[in-house]
Amino acid sequence: MTYFRRNIERMSGYTPGEQPREPGFVKLNTNENPYPPSPKALKAVRAAVGKDLRLYPDPLATKVREKAAEVYGTKPERVLVGNGSDDCLTMIVRAFAGPGGRVAYPTPTYSLYRTLCLIENAKPVEVPFPPDFALPPKLARARARVTLVANPNSPSGTFVAPADLSKLARAMDGVLVIDEAYVDFAEQDCLRLVRRHRNVLVLRTFSKSFSLCGMRIGFAVGREELIDGLMKVKDSYNVNRLAAEAAVAALDDVDAMRRNADKVRATRARLMAGLEKLGWFVYPSQGNFVFARVRPPHSARECYEQLKRRRILVRYFDAPGLDDGLRISVGTNREIASLLRNLREICAPCA
Ligand code: PMP
Repeated sequence: MTYFRRNIERMSGYTPGEQPREPGFVKLNTNENPYPPSPKALKAVRAAVGKDLRLYPDPLATKVREKAAEVYGTKPERVLVGNGSDDCLTMIVRAFAGPGGRVAYPTPTYSLYRTLCLIENAKPVEVPFPPDFALPPKLARARARVTLVANPNSPSGTFVAPADLSKLARAMDGVLVIDEAYVDFAEQDCLRLVRRHRNVLVLRTFSKSFSLCGMRIGFAVGREELIDGLMKVKDSYNVNRLAAEAAVAALDDVDAMRRNADKVRATRARLMAGLEKLGWFVYPSQGNFVFARVRPPHSARECYEQLKRRRILVRYFDAPGLDDGLRISVGTNREIASLLRNLREICAPCA
């Protein structure tokens, strides 16, 4: 006997990366930014802590829409703000797919996509990436109401050219969602596709490049018709007052974000070179993390466990196609030097 809908009863929930309870861990497992948020954002949050918290926030997060439109060269009407970009993804699957609706995405990718489909009883259509993580041609023929492409992709870190996504948008029927959570660490982005295609939504987040994971705020950019429809399914007050203030101030200090993203990119190059030196296969990364396949006789699980014993957390996925690799978030230069030192020790006896 269960009180739950059949699909909920059957599914397992999303498994987030570990958040250690004790301090002292080097956290390279959830793609957080190693640098603090802009001091302007912190100041804005502090200033917003006061008696106005008694009041509901603006249901449309108007100030965030306006500021995002100004910074990214679009109109406020084309911006939808969410409680993290995860919230935008929830709205999208709810609004466009629904029970039985097909939702396509290349795999392996962000595992929340599948979870959101299962919650809605939508039908996940998983199209495997080729070995080089190029966009699978089959995606255009998936007859999906929604197609989700993380670009850069997680966990691979690989990047698909905007021209390929533009072709996909034209070739397919439904809505194409380009999830650009990590795009500030990449060389190009797809925002301009919103102007070119009526079926494209681009997702952005303040979590990664703006160092605001803890605030939970992100947004979608798309044509007015798409944004207006999505508004109908969102929680009424989905963006809290503090998050909205943080986002506006962070956008006001976009140069600080860009400086941190540059630092992350420089450390990413060191991380990739260090892993290659160990003989691991490293995918070209455009994100703030690197996916690398561990060289035998060592196993990814063993490296993950040994690193954890040394209080360094990285992400190990116990799933076919991923279980011989590790996803390592780019920390500070010091953290990455320590990670590489430890890996050299762990892998030394048999090297
Ligand atoms: N998209 C991708 C590909 C991600 O990896 C993440 C972070 N786990 C998100 C979206 C969600 O980010 P947030 O909800 O923090 O904005």
